[in-house]
Amino acid sequence: MACFRKAGFDLCRQLSRTLSSSVNSFALRSHSCGELRAGDVGKRVTLCGWVPRIRKLGKKGPLFIPLRDSYGITQLVVNDQSDNEVSESLASLPPESVISIKGFVAKRPDSMVNKALSTGEIEVQVESVDFVNESSIALPFQLSSTDESFPVHEDLRLQHRYLDLRREEMQRNLRLRSKVSSAIRHFLTSLHGFVEVETPTLFRRTSEGAREFLVPTRDPEKFYALAQSPQQFKQMLMAGGIDRYFQFARCYRDEDLRADRQPEFTQLDLELSFVDMGGIMNLVEEILAHIWRTVLKEEEPLQLPFQQMSYEEATNSYGTDKPDLRFGFEIADVSNWEDSDLAVRGIRGNLSAFLSREELEKLVEKAAEETNVTIGTMKWNKSQDSLTIRIGDTECSMSNTTFGLLASGPRDKVSRLLGRIRSLIGNRLSLTKNVDNELTTSDAGKRKYEFLWVVNFPLFSIDDEGGVKSTHHPFTAPHSSDEALLDYDPLKIRGQHIDLVVNGVEVGGGSIRIHDADQQEKILRDVLKVDATQFDHLLRSLRSGCPPHGGIALGFDRLMAVIVEAASLRDVVAFPKSFNGRDLLTKSPSTL
Ligand code: ASP
Repeated sequence: MACFRKAGFDLCRQLSRTLSSSVNSFALRSHSCGELRAGDVGKRVTLCGWVPRIRKLGKKGPLFIPLRDSYGITQLVVNDQSDNEVSESLASLPPESVISIKGFVAKRPDSMVNKALSTGEIEVQVESVDFVNESSIALPFQLSSTDESFPVHEDLRLQHRYLDLRREEMQRNLRLRSKVSSAIRHFLTSLHGFVEVETPTLFRRTSEGAREFLVPTRDPEKFYALAQSPQQFKQMLMAGGIDRYFQFARCYRDEDLRADRQPEFTQLDLELSFVDMGGIMNLVEEILAHIWRTVLKEEEPLQLPFQQMSYEEATNSYGTDKPDLRFGFEIADVSNWEDSDLAVRGIRGNLSAFLSREELEKLVEKAAEETNVTIGTMKWNKSQDSLTIRIGDTECSMSNTTFGLLASGPRDKVSRLLGRIRSLIGNRLSLTKNVDNELTTSDAGKRKYEFLWVVNFPLFSIDDEGGVKSTHHPFTAPHSSDEALLDYDPLKIRGQHIDLVVNGVEVGGGSIRIHDADQQEKILRDVLKVDATQFDHLLRSLRSGCPPHGGIALGFDRLMAVIVEAASLRDVVAFPKSFNGRDLLTKSPSTL
């Protein structure tokens, strides 16, 4: 048996000229490890891949090697005992070493057919082996191909991400992500005349909303800020006549981290001239329907148009502006004290049918911690099978059996707490994976993906210091019928803003923008009380004859995480930051 250490470039040129299959073109292999079938028996092939730990059966018997690449596993058989040296070297290879082999495809004996493998009817009889790269590190974890319950701590996976990426789940996620982004590009550019434009990530600091990362320059007094979104650039593109823009944009925000946040993330960013909110909603719905049709090929097509709900109804009935509509358990008032901020509210439904008292109490405690609400007392009402929570020292009596959980206290805290409890109940009952129809109260709840537009957000809200801030960003236009309130009651103004929510996750937000420079300046200066000169570039562009415009950004990582049902955003990003914002692989940030 021949054993060669270096494959020459000529071999590559020769192979790639004769190949037809796309995953093998330009590569030093004739086939992937996932594609040989009974119909290929007799073919001479070149395969490359990783070897697992190999166990040799007896001193003289053949050696079986399940060679693996990103497309599958093909069983190799090394029969040739005349070259014992090669056989011995193979048997002693550390796992995850890379080899390349030449051989011919043979049919497996009937008794050896492996139905669990797509290549299970054949094996490749090896003629020569190239030991391409021997692995020389101790593996930090085992790479199993069936990794539904991969038990390895995420930090370890992130430290050795290049190995983690070899796992089937990560391969599937990243490959699907690539297909989805190329379907979106095709839809936007080939079918709808959008133009892909890259905008700078080195930007200036402005009060757009989120906290920015600063970048020092050679001039010790001057800093760039990393763009938190291409918002201002995309608006200036509208002034510049690029009337249908999109970009897969990297955005950077130095904010508190949560499971569904990364300091660096990707948005599908869109902007159009001469559009209204309906046009933006239609565009996004059609993009998603295109993905569902052409990439996911889901049996159940998306139901268009998506439902709409006002911000008020969402926060009232679900305690959040991103309600998960796959299950019921709505929140409702039991009683409301007139002229007071206090309320008794409850979660509808017989919770004790699904959760024990202890389980429910645990969820309440978790929700209280996450929402920063201090609970006074918790009491179990045996006769009604319901749990009563008191926030602060409100006295209340509750006797309604349609509620499985009741809470009393300041209205906004009660709603926030109940909203969080409701979504924890949803997670706890595995509703994120599979909806049990019994728990749903509407037909809508039977669907796997519950998309929802949340509309009529307040344009402004109160910030932590009691000042006025933009609910989204300062460029959102007010509803035209509310414009008169700008001078005397800005908090009552509704914004022309929409959020897209799916299964309780906010996957997008957009708006019609202010194109009147005077109105923009007034909002910045008089309502938000920020220095409007930092937006001179934008104001000048609006004054230059900027067409009316609007747009939206979809969180692409979040969208992909929903599509692949990932537990975390990190599972759809090749090299994410860890839960606390660090890159564990390259150990950054680091001191200089
Ligand atoms: N720039 C906004 C954001 O990043 C999205 C938009 O309004 O288009 O949230």
